[in-house]
Amino acid sequence: MKTWIKDVLELQVADMKTKRMNRRFKDIPKEKQEIISGMEVEKGKVSKAKEKMMETEKEIKSLEMKMDSIKARINDMQQKSAIVKKNDEYKAFLNEIASQKSFISSLETKQLNYFEQLDADKKTLSSAEKSLKTMENELEESIKDLEEMENVLQSEIEKALQTRKPLLEKLDPEVLPTYTRLIKKDGEPLVRVHNNTCGFCHLKLTPQTVNDAKKGQVTCCDSCGHLIYFRDEEI
Ligand SMILES: [Zn+2]
Repeated sequence: MKTWIKDVLELQVADMKTKRMNRRFKDIPKEKQEIISGMEVEKGKVSKAKEKMMETEKEIKSLEMKMDSIKARINDMQQKSAIVKKNDEYKAFLNEIASQKSFISSLETKQLNYFEQLDADKKTLSSAEKSLKTMENELEESIKDLEEMENVLQSEIEKALQTRKPLLEKLDPEVLPTYTRLIKKDGEPLVRVHNNTCGFCHLKLTPQTVNDAKKGQVTCCDSCGHLIYFRDEEI
């Protein structure tokens, strides 16, 4: 195997690893954001459940006030009925009192339904709070893990860049510009030839290109421009 091929392969292994680490490193802020957004959704559920519970409590309170005022009126009518002289006036009071009492009874039924609703609201709130709490604990852990990974990757990338320097310096000047251009693109810059096709784009190579590559010359794929090589045993 020609020296330039060995050198490029060695550098390429290091560079591909760095590229993977860089991609992972760049994804971390997005991952953090997704975790935080997920928790915002849970927070929204908790405040919605709280609002619903407060509304139900307000309804209960308002029914209570309404019933108190009716009870006061009934009390007032009872006192007045005791002192009226005329029978029909007395009967009118009794009718009105009976009608107001039945009204209170209907309000009580309504209030009972609201109490049942309040129980359900409390359960919804408690389950939302529980799930938020779990998420908050997990969030702390997940963010911590991501930050640790961020630090590890940063130091690994710096190390890899240091390792790369001498490898890059000894690279054949004939290959260097092509390699530098290709490493910024997708895939490995230097690929093996399989059945006379390029290992990157898988298109057929011309016989001239195949011959040049077999000789170990610096050769590029006719279609995609990736550097190509043959393994010694395949020549
Ligand atoms: Zn190709």
